[in-house]
Amino acid sequence: MSKKVCVIHTGGTIGMLDTKFGYKPKKGFIKKVLTEIKKLNLSDMPDFDVLEHDVLLDSTNMSVNEWNMIAENIVDSYDRYDGFVILHGTDTMAYTASALSFMLEGLSKPVILTGSQIPLYLIRNDARDNLITSLLITSNYNVPEVTLFFNNKLYRGNRAKKISSDDLSAFDSPNFPPLGVAGVNIVLNENLIRNPGEELRLVKFNKNKIAVLKIFPGIQYELFESIITPDLKGLVIEAYGTGNIPDDSDGKLAKALRKLEENGTVIVVCTQCYKGSAIVGQYASSKELINAGAVSGYDMTVEAAVTKLYYLFSMDYDQDTIKRMMGTDLRGELGLS
Ligand code: ASP
Repeated sequence: MSKKVCVIHTGGTIGMLDTKFGYKPKKGFIKKVLTEIKKLNLSDMPDFDVLEHDVLLDSTNMSVNEWNMIAENIVDSYDRYDGFVILHGTDTMAYTASALSFMLEGLSKPVILTGSQIPLYLIRNDARDNLITSLLITSNYNVPEVTLFFNNKLYRGNRAKKISSDDLSAFDSPNFPPLGVAGVNIVLNENLIRNPGEELRLVKFNKNKIAVLKIFPGIQYELFESIITPDLKGLVIEAYGTGNIPDDSDGKLAKALRKLEENGTVIVVCTQCYKGSAIVGQYASSKELINAGAVSGYDMTVEAAVTKLYYLFSMDYDQDTIKRMMGTDLRGELGLS
């Protein structure tokens, strides 16, 4: 029997047209193009339906609400399709891919996010290839995880990062090899692909307060005092190298960290390097973080760390469990699995 795929269109450059204010998503456009492709009745192509979101977004406007909506779309129609292709803007695609990987527990079908740097309506574009190859992978290969396909590479969603605002090769997965490469043939790295889950379970995200703080030379910690409130559940610190932050010379860092600890905020330390791991405690300059009970984000992307915090807080775990699970691989987001 031929495979059936659900294309969920959320917005992004792929389906945008030019307006006097710049590129904007156009309702109905992707559906029209895909309907024309469908009419060609090409034997390689799977059968598919298009589910277009009522409000198509530039992905800069993605939030927990939309992540919940996309995850619900998948869960609601899970039994009717063999896989899902999500059309999404590139700016926050890695965040959505990471979020969905945590929300969709026990996934046994492919969910591929894709989009483009050049809109589909332009004659020279990367949209057509990204879209068609994503449909072919979804329907012909067994990749039961949330992935991101872009410029001929298939990445694990929670390992991907947007690395270029103008190259067609806009994504990379610096700490994990691609799951597949589409050249003349589509070749998958089978032993990296995760095993299918047994039963799908949706974990919707609550809107907990999570923040990201990027360290830079001369940082004045007191400027961030106002965000350190008991409402702040999780803080991802983008530290230097292996997890170092400027040593405290005037007590301001110690004060901020003490307050975070008193408030029960989970502090996760990721590296601001493109590649590699943050392991607090390797250098003396991360001692203040250790004293405040911060946990290492290891080789997780900031996108994965942020969405994992949303996930763990939505599961209502206590603080110790959340700290422990931040360092445990749940969906292939961390380590070598
Ligand atoms: N601003 C666009 C978006 O993220 C960029 C893109 O799709 O490439 O929706």
